[in-house]
Amino acid sequence: MTTPVTTLHGIGKQVAEQLARLGIHSLEDMLFHLPLRYEDRTKIKPLNQLKVGESVLVEGTIQSAEVKFGKRRSLICMLSDGADTVMLRFFHFYPSQREKLKPGTHLRCFGEVRQGYQNLELVHPQYECLDYFDSNPLLEDHLTPIYPSNSHLTQTVFYSLIDQIFQKQEIIDYLPETVREQFNLLPIKEALQILHQPPPEVSIKALRDGKHPALRRLVFEELLAHHLSFRTLKLQARRQNAPNLDNAGELTQSLLAQLPFKLTEAQQRVSQEIAADLRATHPMHRLLQGDVGSGKTIVAALSALQAIESGYQVAVMAPTELLSEQHQRTFSQWLEPLELQIAWLTGSLTKKKREQALEKMASGEAQLVIGTHALFQKDVEFAKLGLVIVDEQHRFGVHQRLALRNKGTQDGLYPHQLIMTATPIPRTLAMTAYADLDTSIIDELPPGRTPVNTAIIPNTRRDEVIARIQQVCQHDGRQAYWVCTLIEESETKQFQAATETAEQLQNALPNLQIGLIHGRIKAKEKEQIMAQFQAQELDLLVATTVIEVGVDVPNASLMIIENPERLGLAQLHQLRGRVGRGALQSYCVLLYQPPLNDLTKSRLATIRDNHDGFIIAQRDLEIRGPGDVLGTRQKGVLNLRIADLQRDKALLLDEILEAGKILSKEYPEQSQLLIQRWIKEGIHYSKV
Ligand code: ADP
Ligand code: MG
Repeated sequence: MTTPVTTLHGIGKQVAEQLARLGIHSLEDMLFHLPLRYEDRTKIKPLNQLKVGESVLVEGTIQSAEVKFGKRRSLICMLSDGADTVMLRFFHFYPSQREKLKPGTHLRCFGEVRQGYQNLELVHPQYECLDYFDSNPLLEDHLTPIYPSNSHLTQTVFYSLIDQIFQKQEIIDYLPETVREQFNLLPIKEALQILHQPPPEVSIKALRDGKHPALRRLVFEELLAHHLSFRTLKLQARRQNAPNLDNAGELTQSLLAQLPFKLTEAQQRVSQEIAADLRATHPMHRLLQGDVGSGKTIVAALSALQAIESGYQVAVMAPTELLSEQHQRTFSQWLEPLELQIAWLTGSLTKKKREQALEKMASGEAQLVIGTHALFQKDVEFAKLGLVIVDEQHRFGVHQRLALRNKGTQDGLYPHQLIMTATPIPRTLAMTAYADLDTSIIDELPPGRTPVNTAIIPNTRRDEVIARIQQVCQHDGRQAYWVCTLIEESETKQFQAATETAEQLQNALPNLQIGLIHGRIKAKEKEQIMAQFQAQELDLLVATTVIEVGVDVPNASLMIIENPERLGLAQLHQLRGRVGRGALQSYCVLLYQPPLNDLTKSRLATIRDNHDGFIIAQRDLEIRGPGDVLGTRQKGVLNLRIADLQRDKALLLDEILEAGKILSKEYPEQSQLLIQRWIKEGIHYSKV
């Protein structure tokens, strides 16, 4: 099946090049290049049964043909099959065509039915003239597939290639018969034949909706292949060596003693799960899920201490500078009393600062290093890296995570990895893109939190909202955030909008200290502003969505989100999670721009009425699909070819898990072949 397509008839150099552009190199590539859609040319549709929007094959005799000069010159033919008529409309036609399409000509046409002024019409149908006396050409014996192509390759090329492959080639099924029977799956050859040359009775709708058994077979196989590839990674990790971090005790105890709170039961449970992993001799790859505010940071700090106490360094990686600063403050506060050294490395450091940080990391003087992805650039060296903690993983994406797996190895030892996320991973992804990870879940918020009271208010009541800020900040001594949203517009516009809003608010609220934060502000300045806000020197912080993750100021009890209709639910939930961090009642105002459509109304209501991030993410997923929720849409979470995680989310998940177990245990060879078939870039993702 890896035979090159060029071995088939009729493929010259040019066609081969064009096929290669579509990613088709081998016979197998061609077989899995599935049609985009299908047309039914297997039966003639009587003209009295036409429905608007359907693509149909019709036959009849031209009754009249005339050129009309309306808005556009067009040739209009009335076609009749004796029972009814349909109008054919051509905007471009050569004299020779005009000649042929005259009354009395017998025609067979294919086109989409549209509603015209007086009559149903076919605009620019494909047509062929039939000889009245001769026997008519045969109808197609299967539905006509239309392949994704480019302007250089006609559909006929694909038909010929597919025909040849089915005639000559043996198509091996990598799913053993027992597995196929157990999960009720079609043999691969049968499935492919149905998809490439569907018999007339196959429902085009079922093919389109992914419900047809032939398509399900391929979706099953593709998702299974991804699942297996991630399982393989997991097994691989079991054979790798990692530093044994079993020297925990004193430091952890001192940190716990110094905390102003007691760990929740959930925090204790997940800490123990992680501690056990770190004592093992193969690398941990663990995903720590916990809603916004559930207290993941302290869990991370405890595991960091276990590594440090065992004589290793720890790297904490955050998706944004702002969040890395936040972590730096939090970790310093916790670890400096224990006399530990922390370094900070982000992209925006001055050369000198950067060199100092690198030096501290390379010499081992810094036991903990906090930073952005700058932590894993080429020239960065650790003396003895034992644990990598990745915060808010969804911002990084799956491929970046995989690229990180082999970073930081020293003397044949792979560092342990802890990955934290506040966004629940939907099941389809959990068992495909995340199947290499073990999971811990913090399913409990620290006690004493009061759910944030959320209101949906139109922008026409802006003045009232501003008066409310005055009240909260001046009278109650609390603090507030004002979040400006302008997604997908330029960064320049974002910062202009935030700057203008800050000015307006300052005019309306002359007594308040107002700070401004956006993507253009230098790291150092940002850090200062955040520190001021934390120290309550600022009452109100105007910000773009850069504050989304991680910012932690418990005295802030009011958040206004402007144009919340532009954001996803998960993102709104994250933002809102910046308030309600203490015991006092907090408020969130969703200040929308009317009018809202029904869908948006119900989305905002979902946020207002729910406080559980898992439920909100579930809703978000239903509305927008997993790529968006995980912020990985541009890259395509998994480069899926046929499966669609949104469309196929309910499909066979448990069966795929089950089949994954059977295959990796009993059919390792087939497993590898399946992975190779579906995942071209290989399971190491080494080039990412
Ligand atoms: P997230 O999981 O969103 O990263 P954080 O780790 O930032 O949450 O914790 C949110 C807030 O809750 C912080 O102010 C933290 O100090 C506090 N916190 C964490 N654990 C507890 C606990 N067990 N009891 C009380 N407060 C806690
Ligand atoms: Mg956090």
